[in-house]
Amino acid sequence: SKVIKCKAAVAWGRGEPLSIEDVEVAPPKAHEVRVKIVATGVCHTDWEYLYETGKGMKFRPFPLVLGHEGAGIVESVGPGVTKFSPGDKVIPLFLPQCGECDRCRSPKTNHCRKNWDNTQMGVLADGTSRISCKNQQIYQFLGVSSFSQYTVVPDTSLTKIRSDAPLEKVCLLGCGVSTGYGAAVNTGKVEKDSLCAVFGLGAVGLAAVMGCRVAGAKRIIGVDINPDKFDKAKVLGATECVNPRDHNKPIQEVIVAMTHGGVDYALECVGSPDIMSAALESTADAWGTCIIAGWTETAAMKVMVEKILMGRTLKGTYFGGWKSVQDVPKLVDDYMNNRLELDEFITHSLPLDQINVAFDLLKSGKSIRTVISL
Ligand code: NAD
Ligand code: ZN
Ligand code: ZN
Repeated sequence: SKVIKCKAAVAWGRGEPLSIEDVEVAPPKAHEVRVKIVATGVCHTDWEYLYETGKGMKFRPFPLVLGHEGAGIVESVGPGVTKFSPGDKVIPLFLPQCGECDRCRSPKTNHCRKNWDNTQMGVLADGTSRISCKNQQIYQFLGVSSFSQYTVVPDTSLTKIRSDAPLEKVCLLGCGVSTGYGAAVNTGKVEKDSLCAVFGLGAVGLAAVMGCRVAGAKRIIGVDINPDKFDKAKVLGATECVNPRDHNKPIQEVIVAMTHGGVDYALECVGSPDIMSAALESTADAWGTCIIAGWTETAAMKVMVEKILMGRTLKGTYFGGWKSVQDVPKLVDDYMNNRLELDEFITHSLPLDQINVAFDLLKSGKSIRTVISL
């Protein structure tokens, strides 16, 4: 195995647009796999990390290669790798499943801790990254870095998928769609004939809408300040949509009135503490459940004690509660068998050198997902 020279979108510093560079990708070390990334989605979390780090997100080091919603093909494997061979179609995972830690052995959670501290800091198990540029180490966002034509990931942060899966579609199962869908079906355990509200209709929220529909919810209320999202929400299962800006009282009061007492399930897919509080307060007392999928690491949300005291439940979800290695291939099967929608989420496709345009489209609300081809 040799060093591979290829293109990657490098984030040199916070708040600076990505820059397409020639990078060097080192061969995989023990229990690592080098992957040729074929396609990657651009997630809100990538944008957030580039433009809001230190605000909504904790500081992680720069320079780095972002991207954590990719799909590709195994190029080579390091010593000790038994589950992958060159040519396998794979999805890299920002949440591993080692199968051995106490979290992996528990059916209650998907929060595997393998390599956790290292991947949060952008390095692999030995404390270094495999990507470099101009003789400088480039950190790997969440241990993945799918905005590079090649990357190296731990063999516990990768899953093999069926060989007929279209990588430019199933890449979305590496983050956004799996997260929102699982927030409804795994974390919320949304029930048949229930009333649901989904706050934020980006890819995560639309996937939550889809999850509520698959679970058999009776009413699914989509909430967004951008009404351009409403048509797509209805295609994916929303029965009605509301824009908080069309009302002169707080959105939670609007939803409680619409549902005569509140929804059974409210899903927050924006990443804003105020909306998290509003989502909780939109649920019915006695049994309402609020599930938080939106990401913010540094802010606190306000919870009125009485809201919890009266029987509501507040939960969070990381990667939709899926045990990544075992479940993502099943989600791929569901897509291939027309049981799960992905095509509706892809509004734009662009080459790697247009990646900053993908951020603009996401931020301006014009896209749901842009898929970048590498
Ligand atoms: P996105 O930017 O595509 O969608 C966010 C949506 O929220 C947009 O449609 C926007 O118009 C809407 N919005 C903004 N302010 C609002 C308000 N006040 N009221 C109602 N809607 C509002 O983002 P995305 O890629 O779908 O990601 C959504 C969130 O989920 C982000 O915070 C992201 O970081 C997070 N996320 C979490 C996980 C996880 O594991 N929990 C995984 C992926 C993404
Ligand atoms: Zn993401
Ligand atoms: Zn584990």
